[in-house]
Amino acid sequence: MPETKSKLLQVEHLKKYFTIRKKGRLMAVDDVSFDIYRGETFGLVGESGCGKTTCGRTIIGLYPATSGSIRYEGKDITHLTGPQAHWFKKRAQMIFQDPYASLNPRMTVGDIIAEGMENFGLYPGVKQRQQRIQELLGLVGLNKEHANRFPHEFSGGQRQRIGIARALAVDPEFIICDEPISALDVSIQAQVVNLLIKLQQELGLTYLFIAHDLSMVKHISDRVAVMYMGHLVELAASEELYSHPLHPYTQALLSAIPIPDPQIERQKEVLPLEGEVGSPINCQPGCRFASRCPHAMERCHQETPVLKDLGQAHLVACHLF
Ligand code: SF4
Repeated sequence: MPETKSKLLQVEHLKKYFTIRKKGRLMAVDDVSFDIYRGETFGLVGESGCGKTTCGRTIIGLYPATSGSIRYEGKDITHLTGPQAHWFKKRAQMIFQDPYASLNPRMTVGDIIAEGMENFGLYPGVKQRQQRIQELLGLVGLNKEHANRFPHEFSGGQRQRIGIARALAVDPEFIICDEPISALDVSIQAQVVNLLIKLQQELGLTYLFIAHDLSMVKHISDRVAVMYMGHLVELAASEELYSHPLHPYTQALLSAIPIPDPQIERQKEVLPLEGEVGSPINCQPGCRFASRCPHAMERCHQETPVLKDLGQAHLVACHLF
């Protein structure tokens, strides 16, 4: 966590619903609030379909918010259009999960990286732009000769590095990393995470790091929020969350992470996630984890738990607390 804590992004009561014909409303993000401080990495974790990617895409403006507000440097960016949207896009970029699908196969790496510079009128002049492309390739661990090649000539890890260089091309300050390592081989994942950490230190970046697995965000995040079916269920500093998980869902997720020591791993208690996952369509009041929670009581089926600060900025949404 940076020493001077100034809020870069403030998300308040954000909702993103999708209308499904003849079924109703899919409540992908439902009343989610959190702040991200300048210079920190904020991890957002949850199983596939929990709404974390929708949350990231709504923040960056790819989906219009249903309600709630998003503020960036204190300015309301919830429904930006025209020059204001341009202002925000220059500051905030996204790195996508699938480095195969997110790069145009018909463009050279140099053109892919230059696209953002052109859109924002940065580094005008061929020589200046070429020089900047080469700098960016070096920054992400690629060679300047790579600028003339096409995406299919690269490995998955290298393509993700190209995606990172493309995001950096407009000199952003905030990057949403949407599962940037999930599609990569385990051996490459650590390299990409270390690259993101190095870039953050060198360029003073702020990250929203989205992942489906708590072990993936442990190494990089200052604070971690856990999401379940559209709700935030727990939020704490990374160390605190990993050492004292409070929400039954977080506890189950953490118990499933393998420990590299075989002796400890054999003795470890894994908390199984049993029961049916509820539907995010037309949700009724109550805890959305109740169908899988070993501690569920009557109140859990009637009243939606709200996120409460239990001290030391450790927030949890559960009727047990
Ligand atoms: Fe379990 Fe109830 Fe807490 Fe939900 S509110 S996690 S069902 S104890």
